[in-house]
Amino acid sequence: MEIEYDGGIRIQGTDLWLDANRKKDFCFVSHAHIDHAKRHKKILATPQTAKFYQHRLGETETRILEFNQPKRIKGAKVELFPSGHILGASQILVEKGGVRMVYTGDFKLRGCLTAERIQIKKCDILIMESTFGLPDYVFPPRKEIIKKLTGFVKKTLSQNQTPVVLAYSLGKAQEAMKILGNLGFKLSVHSSILKLASVYQRFGIKFKNCYRYYSRDLKGKVLLTPPWLRNSKMINNIPKKRIAMLTGWALDPGAKGTYGADEVIPLSDHADFWELTQYVKKASPQKIYTLHGFTEFVSHLRALGYDAERLEPKAKPYKLGKELLSNYDLFSNL
Ligand SMILES: [Zn+2]
Repeated sequence: MEIEYDGGIRIQGTDLWLDANRKKDFCFVSHAHIDHAKRHKKILATPQTAKFYQHRLGETETRILEFNQPKRIKGAKVELFPSGHILGASQILVEKGGVRMVYTGDFKLRGCLTAERIQIKKCDILIMESTFGLPDYVFPPRKEIIKKLTGFVKKTLSQNQTPVVLAYSLGKAQEAMKILGNLGFKLSVHSSILKLASVYQRFGIKFKNCYRYYSRDLKGKVLLTPPWLRNSKMINNIPKKRIAMLTGWALDPGAKGTYGADEVIPLSDHADFWELTQYVKKASPQKIYTLHGFTEFVSHLRALGYDAERLEPKAKPYKLGKELLSNYDLFSNL
């Protein structure tokens, strides 16, 4: 098995791209965050991701594949399975010539209320995201994170101020809706978040105590908005408020300043350093390629005895597995 990495990953001989960031004829979309979901001619995705993708990018020819339903696609056996990142987010297992390759997309190991629990499959080759691949990024237990969030909301409301919670509109925001709504807090929710929450509802995830945002109806409510509205009139015009940002980068020393927030809370949809390492141990691959992370994580994996390297755009394809020299015209798609 060989792969090509050039603004996306392509399994040689399958014509299937994985999370390509340029338009392709046929591309697996792991989830609908904008850095992974670009406009393609045809996509392969879970039903949930297909719906989010459609919301964000419009109608597209789609091959839907449910989790854990192996299928032959373009000359390889392909299976999608949950990554635990956001609702419908998927990893992909590609089996070809007796080699098992897993591409994780974004993932996390810890459970949450709005995404499927992650599965980990043994594989020969692992291509993994490694965003928080430094020992500095070990998140506290989820219980503590939720306590910090609810503590922030309670304290702010008790001071007759408006708690403003900043959370990415797909995934993080719905998790915040579910956590706070289930605990009886009333939320005033920005329309961009509600629009995507309607897809969650379609797939059986219900929200309590969540209402459409009206500027005159904030009393006693938590305002939930995407972070890009931090410096908007919508937020600036609220006379008495305290702002919290939900992000894994909350562990950075200067995070409050970075996000213009009174509080930063490390609720993340990504694996932390410990989870990344656990994943690798469970998948026990012979070869690892990392994406979206620090080079130090590669050194960490090597110190643990793994054959690891960072996936970089290269002029020639990566050869995965010793016996797998390919006869394919390597750049026939470019
Ligand atoms: Zn993502």
